[in-house]
Amino acid sequence: MAKEKVCAKCKIYIPEGDVCPICKKTNYATVAYGKLIVIDPEKSFLAKKAGAPIKGVYALKVR
Ligand SMILES: [Zn+2]
Repeated sequence: MAKEKVCAKCKIYIPEGDVCPICKKTNYATVAYGKLIVIDPEKSFLAKKAGAPIKGVYALKVR
């Protein structure tokens, strides 16, 4: 299984391909901690707090 890619800026786990679905860049975090699954960013308090604009899986901390 390929190593998971996490965008260093948006903290989203990139679901497919190489480009971040939010910022369209390929700037990966080297280390990612934790997972926050966002299903409905419009209604999720945690998603707003984490700054998660779209549905997906986000890291809680990146480095
Ligand atoms: Zn990004």
